[in-house]
Amino acid sequence: MTGHPEEGPHMRQLLGAYVLDALAAAEARTVARHLQNCDRCAADYAAVAEAAALLPLLTEEDLLE
Ligand SMILES: [Zn+2]
Repeated sequence: MTGHPEEGPHMRQLLGAYVLDALAAAEARTVARHLQNCDRCAADYAAVAEAAALLPLLTEEDLLE
């Protein structure tokens, strides 16, 4: 069960760093290309991006207290 070879490995483990813009440029390109071809990782990316968007808000509130 290796999926479609042309898709390459899934990117779930890189999505967090990708959302936070913490990947090397080449890695970010690989992830971006994969997301265009993989609905599953694209859905995961949307979920991770949504969660990451909330992190600064939470951190800011923590600092205010
Ligand atoms: Zn994938």
